[in-house]
Amino acid sequence: MKVVDMHCDTISEIWYSREQTGESEHADIDAPQELRKNRLHIDLEKMEKGDYFLQNFAMFVNMGSGMDPLESVLKLIDIFYEEMEKNQDKILPVKTWADIESAKAQGKMAAMISLEEGQVTKGNLRFLRDLYRLGARMMTLTWNHENDLAYPNVVSRNVHKVFPCEPVTDRGLKEKGIALVEECEKIGMILDVSHLSDGGFYDLYEHTKKPFVASHSNARALCRHCRNLTDDMIRKIGERGGVIGLNYCGSFLEEAPTEEACQSRVETMAKHARYITDMGGMECLGLGSDFDGISRNLEMDDCSKLPLLEQALEKEGFSTGEIEKIFHKNVLRLYKELL
Ligand SMILES: [Zn+2]
Repeated sequence: MKVVDMHCDTISEIWYSREQTGESEHADIDAPQELRKNRLHIDLEKMEKGDYFLQNFAMFVNMGSGMDPLESVLKLIDIFYEEMEKNQDKILPVKTWADIESAKAQGKMAAMISLEEGQVTKGNLRFLRDLYRLGARMMTLTWNHENDLAYPNVVSRNVHKVFPCEPVTDRGLKEKGIALVEECEKIGMILDVSHLSDGGFYDLYEHTKKPFVASHSNARALCRHCRNLTDDMIRKIGERGGVIGLNYCGSFLEEAPTEEACQSRVETMAKHARYITDMGGMECLGLGSDFDGISRNLEMDDCSKLPLLEQALEKEGFSTGEIEKIFHKNVLRLYKELL
């Protein structure tokens, strides 16, 4: 079954491994890594085994690192294109629907740039347009830090009580954030509400008309983590024609006394898939693994193991046609419409 995945942090992990920043999710990896074959969750060989077609590679910038966010994102984009050049025999960078069709016709995999941290634009529409010209096609407004654009739901990792966590409902998009989402719709940058505060979700909803995504979030009704979506948000994304990417992180799948104890099981993923499609419709769910941005307790512990999820969805009662929608059709339909 062909796989389209809306979110992974592999390029940032490659950067950390080369610069030895100590920020890696993979604590045991201390040698520089390559995209073709590596010890991370995602590499090209494992993607082939998992029957991948398209991967969104997030350029994840952690504002807590103190580095200039624009400079950081440019470094990541440079690594992305270096890797694309080295591996043209297997994977091609895509910016348009025609690029996606051309990769498919050549029997190659496709890679799209996403941005995870809106501050990489510095709140400046010219930088947003420049990043678009460099190939970025999807963007979150925030990661876990407040920035010039908006407020996130999770302020910082491991410092608050995880379940249930208090969403931020009264603070959403700032003035620059509103201008930015309007420009994104105009130029064709797909908006991504993952990490955004609840208040920000509704501000974005009000100031946009096109479909948008939550690239890597689950259902809050099943797991009360505020990185997950409420029923109303799921319905609104579905009604708008957007897509939610199923996240494989244990602490977004099930509740446990500590974040470390949360398990990532394919059976639980199938429960979230059932809940989200019941709430938002069969067209609103895709995949958003968060591979290489998550660690610990993963039953499906790298991207070659996607058939495990396919089996779990079958067991949950999804038909082959429905699993195709979740694995690739829904996201491709959205890209065809928006790119
Ligand atoms: Zn994330």
